[in-house]
Amino acid sequence: MLVEKKFFTPGPSALYPTVSAHLNQALKDNVASISHRSNDFRAIYQDATESIANLFDLPPGFAVLFTGSATEIWEKILLNCVAETSMHFVNGAFSQRFYEFAQQLGKKAVCQEVPAGDGFAVESMEIHYKTELVALTHNETSTGVAMPLEDIYHVKDRNPKRLVALDMVSSAPYPNLDFNKIDTAYFSVQKAFGLPAGLGVWLVHEKCLSKAELLESKQCLTGAYHRLSTMWQGFEKYQTQATPNVLGIYLLGKVARDMLSKGIATIRAEIAERAKKLYAFFEDSADFEIFVKNPRFRSDTVIVANCLKQSSAEIVTKLEQQGLIIGQGYGAHKAKQIRIANFPAHSTEDFETLMQALKDLR
Ligand SMILES: *Cc1c(COP(=O)(O)O)cnc(C)c1O
Repeated sequence: MLVEKKFFTPGPSALYPTVSAHLNQALKDNVASISHRSNDFRAIYQDATESIANLFDLPPGFAVLFTGSATEIWEKILLNCVAETSMHFVNGAFSQRFYEFAQQLGKKAVCQEVPAGDGFAVESMEIHYKTELVALTHNETSTGVAMPLEDIYHVKDRNPKRLVALDMVSSAPYPNLDFNKIDTAYFSVQKAFGLPAGLGVWLVHEKCLSKAELLESKQCLTGAYHRLSTMWQGFEKYQTQATPNVLGIYLLGKVARDMLSKGIATIRAEIAERAKKLYAFFEDSADFEIFVKNPRFRSDTVIVANCLKQSSAEIVTKLEQQGLIIGQGYGAHKAKQIRIANFPAHSTEDFETLMQALKDLR
């Protein structure tokens, strides 16, 4: 029997409900065939940046740049914003990988590490005195740990002269982040944005550009492909260095507008409400246990539970037979954990179906 699949995987995940209509319209409008040097493309880029700026309430001084992935943005941040020393808050596989990139690029990377499932006690965190950039992760997708916004602001308040970079890959646009308190943030679109993979979105403040220009004036290598200064010049004319993912940029602009017309506050409230219910269910369940012990660090967008009675593979397979696709644990936690995404693309109704199926698991 063929059942319709609903994806609650942490990424790629369910598509935002309006994507298929926009995709059809894009084909009718030849979006995938137009030149990226045309005015039509410029209009698409401008539309996407304006709707993203509205959705995130970006203050002046920020550019909206496009890459192929969030992973690419790690490399761009390190090359363009760090001469020598970056400091990384590591609490899972993704924050760890950013740290490793810094090492691979020959930076003096410093890290503060806590075990999987933990958050950071930012009050007592020592920042290495040479740190130029602090790398934070709002939502560590591998463990379901989120960093409270006040903690992010605390780091910036204590380090006003250092750059703060924020990974929001598996949470944006859920957190109502004050962009005056960070210098750059980034995400890719196949997670909480509910779009096809292949597009990274880099929100970057002029302070980062100044740093890149300073490095270039000292003959530091900031990259050839997608160096920040070239990308910024392109952004000012709604142009890109190479042929970009025009279709992805088009869809992003449309979906960001749809989120605005639904109301970003409504979307955020729905996600918070569903997270509360799912955590309450796991708390009471004899079959599961919440992985992140401290409620302050629990993610609302990627919810991770330990499986107490069956393996995660068994649970995933049973749900899949009902068309409900969830994630297994990440890396070493694969066999014993499940991960459930709670994104703007999910309806409260579908979420309830999933919770009922979890309750009925035998
Ligand atoms: C998925 C993910 C990334 C990498 O995103 P790509 O689009 O695969 O490059 C980075 N950080 C976090 C927290 C993620 O969840």
